[in-house]
Amino acid sequence: MTPPLDRLGRPLRDLRISVTDRCNFRCTYCMPKEVYGRDHAFLDRAELLRFGEIEAVVRAAVALGVRKVRLTGGEPLLRRELEWLVRGLSRIEGLEDIALTTNGSLLERKARLLKEAGLSRVTVSLDSLDDATFRRMNDVDFPVARVLAGIDAALEAGFGPVKVNMVVKRGLNDQDLVPMARHFYGRPVILRFIEYMDVGTTNGWRLEDVVPAAEIVARLTAELPLRPLEPNYPGEVALRYATADGRAELGVIASVTRPFCRGCHRARLSADGRLYTCLFAATGFDLKRLLREDDADHAALRTALAGLWATRADRYSEVRTAETAALKSKVEMSYIGG
Ligand code: SAM
Ligand code: SF4
Ligand code: SF4
Repeated sequence: MTPPLDRLGRPLRDLRISVTDRCNFRCTYCMPKEVYGRDHAFLDRAELLRFGEIEAVVRAAVALGVRKVRLTGGEPLLRRELEWLVRGLSRIEGLEDIALTTNGSLLERKARLLKEAGLSRVTVSLDSLDDATFRRMNDVDFPVARVLAGIDAALEAGFGPVKVNMVVKRGLNDQDLVPMARHFYGRPVILRFIEYMDVGTTNGWRLEDVVPAAEIVARLTAELPLRPLEPNYPGEVALRYATADGRAELGVIASVTRPFCRGCHRARLSADGRLYTCLFAATGFDLKRLLREDDADHAALRTALAGLWATRADRYSEVRTAETAALKSKVEMSYIGG
């Protein structure tokens, strides 16, 4: 089957897979406690795609052009024995890259197992080095030292360079931009600053809270001279910079002020098996039903995926306005995966 292009001529290249909608953090910009409290109804175990089902979807996606998957959530390391999924995925011919995005809290325990299972890369989210600020942001009193230990464990297991993602929210952690850059300077870590986005409907997003990429770069440059780097490949989401001495690489993900929909080759699979063609989509296609009730084989899955991709015209970030940001029908990031 010829790999499909969507309605804007974009091929399908990467798949983000949410393996759970649960998380042990309550980051205020992602799963605010008021919404994700004790009585929040998370998915039942039976509703989650089983590892074999995820592998079947990935096989079909690879046949259509996917070369890279990223495991995410919720917190993906809360999914029991995730290394078995990694092992299964690592056997899929044509899949070149298996990455993981994690809050780092369980990495000390898991890094080596994941490496042995065939995981290619690790990204750790860390929003501040200041313990009080970090505890306030994760809202479960989790100490920064344990995430740093998780990053070290990933490096020791051979995952270097590890990417570290920092979501920047004005007035909350923007004072930590330079300290973060200084902390990781000279280490095998690529630090990436992420503009706070209007995903979902529960985080109370306001444009005033976004620190634009241009301001992030200006504030860093004032202390650490930076020079821009070429993208690694066309359509790379992060704007890349190096320090003048070349000892550190930094990235900025400007999803709000410099949207990259034109180069967006990504689909997302929710933990309960819905396929979304945009982070800001309102609805996803129920692949689990196809897998379970209709007992779909490889060809049927591939046909369904190809059809979904061929009708895709998403470019939410390029057409974002105050009205679209306030839409009440967007899915939550913890469900669909960041
Ligand atoms: N729990 C894992 C973690 O935190 O790395 C994986 C899932 S999390 C939803 C994936 C990424 O999305 C994290 O780096 C997180 O900081 C980012 N994220 C969550 N909400 C966001 C928002 N409103 N704007 C920008 N990034 C966000
Ligand atoms: Fe959990 Fe990650 Fe969302 Fe934080 S950003 S609440 S760690 S899923
Ligand atoms: Fe891709 Fe949608 Fe984000 Fe645009 S808004 S880059 S189409 S996920």
